[in-house]
Amino acid sequence: MIQLTTATAIEKAITKARTVKPRVRVNCFGSYTVTNKTTGATYTVTCEKRDGKRFASCTCRAGELGRACYHLAAAVAAHIQLATEQASH
Ligand SMILES: [Zn+2]
Repeated sequence: MIQLTTATAIEKAITKARTVKPRVRVNCFGSYTVTNKTTGATYTVTCEKRDGKRFASCTCRAGELGRACYHLAAAVAAHIQLATEQASH
C-alpha cells in the first residue's frame, strides 16, 4: 500500500506504464485488473481514500513491497479519469 501524494512520486511508474501499455479493466470504482498484454500476467490494483488521503496497492511483488509499479500507475490514471467523470455528472 502506497500513499499517493503528487504525480511526481509515481512519475517513473507512469512513464513505464506508457511504454508497456497494460490493459486496465475496471472491476468497480476503486478496483482494477491490470493485464500485461505481453506476458498475460494479471494483477489487482485497489485505490481508496482514507482520512482525505489517497492510497493505492497492487498485488504484484513490487506492489507488496510498497513500491509504485506501473500496474498501479496505469490503474491510478484510470481511477482519476473515472473519478473526474463521476464528479462532472
Ligand atoms: Zn504491480
